[in-house]
Amino acid sequence: MILSAKQIEKIQKEAYRLGFVACGFTSLRKFDKEKTRFDKWLQSGFHGEMTFLERNAEKRFNPSLLGESFRSAIVVLMNYYPKEKTEAGKIPKVSKYAMGKDYHTVVKEKLCGLQQFINDEISPISGRCFVDSAPIYETRLAVDAGLGWKGKNTLLINKKYGSFVFIGEILSDLEVSENPTVEPNHCGSCTRCIDACPTGALQPDFLDATKCISYLTIEKKSYEKPDKLKTQPWVYGCDICQDVCPWNQKPEPTTIAEFSPKQFLLSAGISEWVKLNEPEFKNLFSDSPLLRTGFKRMQRNLKWIKNERGS
Ligand code: SF4
Ligand code: SF4
Repeated sequence: MILSAKQIEKIQKEAYRLGFVACGFTSLRKFDKEKTRFDKWLQSGFHGEMTFLERNAEKRFNPSLLGESFRSAIVVLMNYYPKEKTEAGKIPKVSKYAMGKDYHTVVKEKLCGLQQFINDEISPISGRCFVDSAPIYETRLAVDAGLGWKGKNTLLINKKYGSFVFIGEILSDLEVSENPTVEPNHCGSCTRCIDACPTGALQPDFLDATKCISYLTIEKKSYEKPDKLKTQPWVYGCDICQDVCPWNQKPEPTTIAEFSPKQFLLSAGISEWVKLNEPEFKNLFSDSPLLRTGFKRMQRNLKWIKNERGS
């Protein structure tokens, strides 16, 4: 079924009602150029221990392989920029996206609500909702849907909401008659993110994940870290290359209550962190992305911070 302009408008209206800040449509295509770049990146070993990236490369760059009937993507963005500020001082820092409830659950629930709306109000569709839950090149789909451009910090940047947004998509058998105008890349000659990256992970045209603080504190499973790579004050993730971006300088705080930061993350010093035992950690972060790293690796991250501080 080909979506009419009126139906697209109706879906967008419902997406905004559900709390999404942008909603675009695009037909599916193969990302051949991106796949070639990605293959080279993998061959260079810049993905480190993230061996899961070596699997499903065909699907990642050809989303129609995720479902025989899939023709298009409805791509949505959800703003997660928290209005609460972390206390000043040397507290261990957590990336903004992980301060509230796990986005996989929160965004997916609302996205499936949108799919249900389409089934009820437009037409029954054969489709699936995805939120960072399958090998899909989501940034590229969002670019194709006219929602922003891929910044030099490797993230999607939306003109109004910057990069502090989650991406979700419904792949389905719906068809769009024409694709939206793609937003030009507005990075221009800016290199603030590259200049600010403390480990040199961010290069002009690629990311060496093995040096990235987000990778080191979240994805890396082994316990050793090259001494020259400093992670402190980050205990989970890193926002530096986003915080410095000119497109993130006037962030609008999220209206999604589930993304309100946990009080502990706003104020706990390192002594409070290290005092947490495993059951306390699991209880405190049972609904949080921090559970992904787990208690033991979080202890490791705290140890790295302490070693770097010499405390
Ligand atoms: S997240 Fe931090 S370490 Fe990773 S590229 Fe950005 S600034 Fe560099
Ligand atoms: S800091 Fe500058 S170069 Fe980096 S993503 Fe933002 S606009 Fe682009």
